[in-house]
Amino acid sequence: MNAEAITWVELRARCRRRWLPAIAAAVLGGALTLGATGITWLVAFPTVGFSLGLLLGAAAGARLQSQFGTAGGREAHLGEELEIRVTPPTVPESLLPLVVAAGVALLVAVLGHGNPHPVLYAGAVFSAFAAAIAGLDVMGAVVVSRWESSTGVRLYAQRRRRAWASSAPPVLAAVPTGLAPRRPRWHLTWALLLAAIVVPAAWTAALATARSNDPWLRSLPAGALPATTSHVDPELGRVASALVGRPVQVRCWSPSDWASIERAQGRVISGFAEIAAGRIHLSPEVCGSLIDLEHGFEPALDTQAGDRMSFAVTAIGHEAGHLRLGRNEAQAECFGLTRADRTATLLGADAAYAYSLQLYYRERILPRRAATYRGGKC
Ligand SMILES: [Zn+2]
Repeated sequence: MNAEAITWVELRARCRRRWLPAIAAAVLGGALTLGATGITWLVAFPTVGFSLGLLLGAAAGARLQSQFGTAGGREAHLGEELEIRVTPPTVPESLLPLVVAAGVALLVAVLGHGNPHPVLYAGAVFSAFAAAIAGLDVMGAVVVSRWESSTGVRLYAQRRRRAWASSAPPVLAAVPTGLAPRRPRWHLTWALLLAAIVVPAAWTAALATARSNDPWLRSLPAGALPATTSHVDPELGRVASALVGRPVQVRCWSPSDWASIERAQGRVISGFAEIAAGRIHLSPEVCGSLIDLEHGFEPALDTQAGDRMSFAVTAIGHEAGHLRLGRNEAQAECFGLTRADRTATLLGADAAYAYSLQLYYRERILPRRAATYRGGKC
């Protein structure tokens, strides 16, 4: 035996010390995302993380059981005689997994260029990670306790300095407690495993159902209709398709329909793009200006109508930018701005007016947009 005293930590105590703060952290991380997303997504990340943790915990438990023998009275591999000095898990040790989770979340936010929602990404990743740690430790505590009571043996992990920096597997010891082994009466492990599969599946189904009820997915009449009527606009679709380089559908919404879309999304917007579906949705104000331009209306730029026109021409280009380049707001904004003159020309504006719309946006509208949109170099 080494001169250096070896200390040990009770395995299930360590699991129990870790899962409560991890659950609290998962809830906190989820709450950070609440402002940027609906309640369905808020729950989805930690739920999936927790289930994944449970499955990983079960796999780790199965490995432990095969290492030390299963219940049923066969002699467990007890290793050599060791002097056991047990210390309770420390606070830094219990919080270390959460620090790792926070680091990963930060990394994701930075790699995503903080766009479009740095807090949303970081919060979602953090809550999923923390929930996975909680799931792992809940399952760990259940599996270890169950195995211990069925064998009359207790598991200890060797405490090592800088254990986090070592890739060696933890050294475990199994010590008889002197208690008679007893058969566990009910199967919490199986109940948890079932929950790990059923809950995310049920949640996915609920999300899919909620999705199919989204107000912007209902079928609409197509044609050259006024902006006050919700419709699929083939002419604006042609312009957006030319900008994106593939067929795109543009949907114009009536004021009351747009209000219910904004309520469903929980934000005030002038348009949005469904990237996978190749659809662009525009507010009645944006569609109204674009349809006016189509009909040859070219309002002077120092008027409210002119300001709206410059905004509308860039707005449809911005959404086209999302279909072409992805979610990054600054890139989409650049795409819309640098193509504003082309967009206006495609709608029938004369070249000089089209160029003045672009210039006006760059000089007058862009500076008052949120910082997320202004990050691009264009
Ligand atoms: Zn956007």
